[in-house]
Amino acid sequence: MSASRLILIRYDEIGLKGKNRKYFENLLLGNIKYKLRDVPDVRYQSPHGRIFIYADESAAQECAHLLTFVPGIASLSVGVSMEPNADSIADLGVDWIEPLLLDKESLSFRVKTQRSDKSFPIPSPEFNHQVGSKILQRLSEKGLTVDLTRAEFTLEIEIGDRETVVFKDRVPCMGGLPVGSAGNVLTLISGGIDSPVAAHMAIRRGCRSHFVFFDNRTFLGRGGYDKVLRLTKRLNAYQRGARLFVVPFADIQVQIRDLCSPPHRVVLYRRAMYRIACALAREQSCLALVTGESLGQVASQTLENLAAVSCVVPISVFRPLIGMDKVEIIGRAKNIDTYPISIEPHPDCCSVFMPPRPATRSKIPELEKDEAKYPWAELEKAALEAAEVIVCDEL
Ligand code: ATP
Ligand code: MG
Repeated sequence: MSASRLILIRYDEIGLKGKNRKYFENLLLGNIKYKLRDVPDVRYQSPHGRIFIYADESAAQECAHLLTFVPGIASLSVGVSMEPNADSIADLGVDWIEPLLLDKESLSFRVKTQRSDKSFPIPSPEFNHQVGSKILQRLSEKGLTVDLTRAEFTLEIEIGDRETVVFKDRVPCMGGLPVGSAGNVLTLISGGIDSPVAAHMAIRRGCRSHFVFFDNRTFLGRGGYDKVLRLTKRLNAYQRGARLFVVPFADIQVQIRDLCSPPHRVVLYRRAMYRIACALAREQSCLALVTGESLGQVASQTLENLAAVSCVVPISVFRPLIGMDKVEIIGRAKNIDTYPISIEPHPDCCSVFMPPRPATRSKIPELEKDEAKYPWAELEKAALEAAEVIVCDEL
C-alpha cells in the first residue's frame, strides 16, 4: 500500500473531557472507521489527543469529504508524513507553492511549526526560519514574500513523537460530540425545513436520532412520505443505526376535524403526535423528543400552545430551534444539504384540515374537553400498531 497521505483529525471539545476522554475518543474512532468502511486500504493510529488516518493520495480526498459528516471532528488536514528534516520539508513546500505563483505577481507565506515532541532539538521558531529561508531562496524571484501575521499561504509542520506531518490547509468540520455519547432521541420529522435542522443539532451533540413521521397520504398523497425518506437518509449520513417510524395519521386527523372545535385542531393534532411519539420513544429507549418548533413562527408555536402540547408527555421535549429566526434556520438547512429536499413542493396540511383561525392561546382544560369527543386512546393505539418501520442504514 502506498501510504502517501496522512489525515490529521482534530477535536476540541473531547479534549476537555478529563477522565472520560478515552471513552469519547474511542467512540469517535469507531464512528470514523464506520464512515470510511468502503474506502480501501485505510490505516489508523490514535496517539494521545490525535487521530491519524493513512491513505493513498486519491483515497485521502474522499476520506476528507466523508469525515466532514462525522460529529466530534473540529477540523482536519490532509498532509504528508515525513522526517523532520528542513531540506525535504522545504522541497515539499516549494512543490506546493510554486504552482500558485504561476498566475500571481506575488504571494506571501509563512512556516508554522508545532512541536509536541520536546526531545526534538531545534526550537520551533528556529525550525520555521530554517525551512522558510530555504523556500524563500528558491522562490523569492518568482514573487514569494514572507508575512508572519497575514500570510496568504501557511506551511504547517507538526513534530510529534510518532509522526512529523506537513500540511497546508485546515478543513473546518462539524465540531460537536461523537454520536452515541449522549443516548438516543426521537425527532418528529415532517417534510419541511425546520425539523431536519433540529434533528441535525441533536445529532451534533452526540445523540443518535430515530425519526417519526405522521403520514396522511390518504388526503395528501405520497409526496411527504417520499421527502421524509430522502431527508432521513441524508440525516443518517451524520450517524448510523437510525430507524424511521411512519405512523398513519389520517384517521386521527379526520376525527379531530369532524368532532372537535376548529380553532383547536392544530394543537390537538400535535397532542396526538406527541403522545404517539412518546410511546415510540419508550419502546426505542429514546430519552427525549426533538421537534422543529420555533417560537412564534406559526400560530401553533406560541408559548401557550407549546405548553399545551408538551404537557401531554412525561418525557423531555427539545426544541433546538426555539430562538432562531427563519433566515438562520434556512442557512443551516443549506449547510447540511437538507434544504433542496425540504423546499420541493408538496401539500403539508391541506385546507381540509387547517382551521381558518387557529387558536394562538389554547387553554388546556378546553382542549381536554374537546379531546373527550373522540376516542383518542384507541385511535392512537391503532396508529402505533400500524406504523411502518424503516431501517435508515438501508435507504
Ligand atoms: P417543519 O418545517 O419541520 O415542517 P413547520 O415550521 O412547518 O416545521 P409545523 O408544521 O407547525 O412547523 O410543525 C412543527 C413541528 O412539529 C415540526 O418541526 C415537526 O417537528 C413536528 N411535525 C409537524 N408535522 C409533522 C408530521 N407530519 N410528522 C412528524 N412531525 C411533525
Ligand atoms: Mg411543517
